[in-house]
Amino acid sequence: EAKRTGRGRTAEATLTLQLLHARRTCLVEALRTATADGSLSLLFQPIVSAHTCRPEAYEALLRWRCAGMGPISPVEFIPLAEDTGQICAIGHWVLQTACRQAAAWPAGPEGQAPKVAVNTSLRQLLQADFAGEVRQALAQAGLAPQRLVVEVTESVFNEGDIDRVLATLLALRQMGIEVHVDDFGTGYSSLSRLHEFPLTAVKVDKSFVLTADERALAVIEGTVLIARRFGLRVIAEGVETAEQARVLARLGVDELQGYYFGRPAPLPVACGSAEALPLPA
Ligand code: C2E
Ligand code: MG
Ligand code: MG
Ligand code: MG
Repeated sequence: EAKRTGRGRTAEATLTLQLLHARRTCLVEALRTATADGSLSLLFQPIVSAHTCRPEAYEALLRWRCAGMGPISPVEFIPLAEDTGQICAIGHWVLQTACRQAAAWPAGPEGQAPKVAVNTSLRQLLQADFAGEVRQALAQAGLAPQRLVVEVTESVFNEGDIDRVLATLLALRQMGIEVHVDDFGTGYSSLSRLHEFPLTAVKVDKSFVLTADERALAVIEGTVLIARRFGLRVIAEGVETAEQARVLARLGVDELQGYYFGRPAPLPVACGSAEALPLPA
């Protein structure tokens, strides 16, 4: 076996970088037409009440089947689209499509149909008139604002232009739209700053649920306590087992989302595990 020289390794690293760059260029090019060429679609994943196990909402999760390269994970293409600014056009498509689809969902036994939660990037919030764009999407779809949830990651609270973010979130709240912080616990915002923002719920990041060690449980417990104080609901994502669901419900988490209750699917499906989940004492 030939011993590889330093120069050989450098050449290999250069090639890897070139390939990554070529892939990126290719994806960015393909993304330019994505909202028009039918390669985007939405899947919906239920978010159920920890008390009744009924779906309160469905989160819209974007999927992209790139013509040249097949299915690409949002974990790869969303950050790309954020870098290039394409996320604004893509996010607009997501918003319109999610509202239109949700407007057709039937009402549950309780009366109101489930809400639809839409992931929103910082760049969208910083657009000149994001609240106006949302208002228009709701009107065109005929969806009540009370049925829309805008999910933002906590990183939007660490931005330079915090006043603009705040103004946009306030405008959304005044329309009756819910605002949830996604992936809570992974960024650098502190629990004590939660009340500075017009939020309705906090979504604990799935890493805490999946680990579920002592430290993770302490974070969730603390989040529940502080969120309660500020009048916010707590949602946990990444719930894969009945045991996790029981533990989270016992900790006071209000709503649960994860493969245990349903995988992301093309159409909202009724909560299949509703009867399998023993309600906490
Ligand atoms: P997210 O908003 O935190 O969405 C939850 C992610 O966790 C989804 O990954 C979902 O499929 C996955 N998940 C759900 N239940 C479970 C579970 O029980 N176990 C595990 N291990 N994972 C679970 P997905 O669909 O790959 O999306 C990844 C991220 O991409 C999303 O994280 C969100 O940040 C972003 N994203 C997706 N759609 C959009 C969009 O339309 N706009 C923007 N800006 N971002 C989006
Ligand atoms: Mg989300
Ligand atoms: Mg999340
Ligand atoms: Mg995420």
